[in-house]
Parts: sequence; structure tokens; C-alpha cells
Amino acid sequence: MSTTRTERRIENREDLKKRLAARTVEAVGGCLIWTGTARSGYGAISFHGQKLSTHQAAYLAEHGCIPQGQLVRHTCRQPLCVNPAHLVLGTDESNAQDAIDHGTSAGLMPRRRIPDRTRRAVISLAVDGFSRHEIHRLLQIPISTVKKIVRTMLTQ
Ligand SMILES: [Zn+2]
Repeated sequence: MSTTRTERRIENREDLKKRLAARTVEAVGGCLIWTGTARSGYGAISFHGQKLSTHQAAYLAEHGCIPQGQLVRHTCRQPLCVNPAHLVLGTDESNAQDAIDHGTSAGLMPRRRIPDRTRRAVISLAVDGFSRHEIHRLLQIPISTVKKIVRTMLTQ
């Protein structure tokens, strides 16, 4: 987890928004899941020489700066989500409290049909080395669906 101890600020917010949108797919709950490079479970992006987590980048693209001592936190508990509406500023303490408040976290919604963008997201995450269980948790789709998509992908 990248703790921001100094203020971060960016220019070219529209450029960064485009970079993020190009590798993002929609998931349940309105989450926008980053399907590009990931490190330690968080999306990673390099923008004008700054290495950022994608949720930091998404916050910066929307608001322009992250004040000193503040972290960008997810209200949706999805580490790869870059939907600015799901991102809030907080501190280490509120991060920990959040985890307690959410307890066992979001219930999984079964889906009837698999939209193409979900299929693409699963494949993209699988190619990036995420396990089927991680993908299931990230995209909140049934594990059987994830397995089916990955199996289809491997036989193509
Ligand atoms: Zn989200």
C-alpha cells in the first residue's frame, strides 16, 4: 500500500483520465476495474515520470491533488477500482477502521449472462497472472463463471 506522506499533484488531468479509461472495464456495483499492469494487488501506472497506484491516479485525475498525509481509499473494497466516485481521502487509521466496519465485505451477486466486457476483464486479469479466486473476488462474479471463461481462453 502506497502511503502518501507528501502532497501529490498532477497536470494534464484529461490525459491521465484517458490513460485510465483505455484499460478499464465496468464491474458490478459501478466499479471500474483496471486491467493493466498491477503490483501487489493494486493497479500501477506511470504518468509523466510519477509512479502511481491506479486509484491514486484516478483520484488525481479527478481532483488534481492528494494532500500531504492523506491516502486514497476505496469505499467499494476493490483494490483495482478506479471509479473516482468510489475513492475518498483518509488516513491509515480510517483505513483500518473501514476494514472493521465492512467485516466480511460485499455479498457476491450472481449474474445470468456474461457481458463481453466482463469476459475481456477476466481474460485480461488472467493474462496478468491473477488467480481465478482473485478474479472472482475482484469482479464479483461467480467462481464457476471465471473458471468457464479461463477454460475457454486456454482452449482457443
Ligand atoms: Zn469501485
